[in-house]
Amino acid sequence: MTRAASPRLAGEFDLAGALSGVRALVLDADGVLLFAGRPLPGAVEALELLEGAAIPYRVVTNYSLAHRESLAAGVARQFGRPVDPRRLITAASAAAAHTARHHPGAPLFVLASADAMREWDGQHTVTADVADDPATSVAAVVIGDAGDGLSFRNLDVAFRAIRRGAAFVAMHRNPWWVTPRGVTLDSGALVIGLEHALGTSATIAGKPSSVVFREAVRELAAEVGPPRLRRAEVAMVGDDLETDVGGARRAGLRGILVLTGKTDRATFEAAVASGRLRGPARPDGVGTGVLEVVKTFVGRRA
Ligand SMILES: [Mg+2]
Repeated sequence: MTRAASPRLAGEFDLAGALSGVRALVLDADGVLLFAGRPLPGAVEALELLEGAAIPYRVVTNYSLAHRESLAAGVARQFGRPVDPRRLITAASAAAAHTARHHPGAPLFVLASADAMREWDGQHTVTADVADDPATSVAAVVIGDAGDGLSFRNLDVAFRAIRRGAAFVAMHRNPWWVTPRGVTLDSGALVIGLEHALGTSATIAGKPSSVVFREAVRELAAEVGPPRLRRAEVAMVGDDLETDVGGARRAGLRGILVLTGKTDRATFEAAVASGRLRGPARPDGVGTGVLEVVKTFVGRRA
């Protein structure tokens, strides 16, 4: 694809127009700030620019194996600069915020990694034995990336608790992913199995669910102050047309696509040309990378 198609990106998907009226940003991590665990070009500068200009932002990722503090420490090492864990929202932290909000103080059966379980500190989590006791009224079951904790026994306990009336929450529906072991079964496959057995759908906490986008807007609204931040005043910057752009736009946020991850310029332009790109997955604006988006945003506010 030559630059002949570029005016389209500058016109129909113009960043400045897409960012007009936006007061806060939500950034995806993989394909926006990082690629294969390494910072993308311009990502460090983009974060410095956001913080220098005191722009409220959150980083929203479906990564859910670790507590936000561990994740922030790992990213800080890669970026060579401090990362505030309070600026991160993972599928695990979104699920914990969801249960804190909807089931305060009530017994919860949570399947997550030992580190991610710390997101539930202060909430009433119970063991499989307690959850399986008919005397326990489990308010919600959360299925996440618990590794070997996703045993038949634990899933069977979860199944019975949901059948008895517990809310069914899952971090995401991703069926598989790539790890050092190669392609690896992901917890979403087990969520889908449980959904099939139960004949009901889980409330998904991570992207593309509106649960995580609403949580991000709630946190940002507390930071921004009056007038109350509206969802349309928040832009999500992501590399996935469905998970990031579609999810955000369905939740009422704006969706900005960057071309540094899953979706490159040729793929995007082919999707536009084919007429397939309709509905929520059609971005409000497109940027080459996160630094261009942030520079445009900061420049527009100046
Ligand atoms: Mg991504």
